[in-house]
Amino acid sequence: MNCPRCHTQLSPVTSGSQVVETRYRADGKSIRRRRQCTTCAHKFTTREYTVQALQATLDLKKTILNNQLVEKVEFALEDIETLTANLMELRVMLKEQTVEAQMIDCGFKTRSERHVAL
Ligand SMILES: [Zn+2]
Repeated sequence: MNCPRCHTQLSPVTSGSQVVETRYRADGKSIRRRRQCTTCAHKFTTREYTVQALQATLDLKKTILNNQLVEKVEFALEDIETLTANLMELRVMLKEQTVEAQMIDCGFKTRSERHVAL
């Protein structure tokens, strides 16, 4: 790891930084350390996790993202179903209008004309 400001290499052997403060998370899954670079005096924070705790967090985030993705796909499918139903309805209406226009072309009276005649 390097200092975020001066990029001096910080290692456990040669140090390069001084721990100013250490906090333990209540659940014991991580340790937060406030450090100060011995070269430029810049203070920065590091966190230590066990690989298992980090993996569990990543798995949880992955599950949440997958669930959100599934939810969005389901919403999109509902929209597609609604659009399909609307298109089917429009298709039937268009077909009815076409049939009525063809009947008028053939000399049949429209519904309104038939009512006027009565
Ligand atoms: Zn530094």
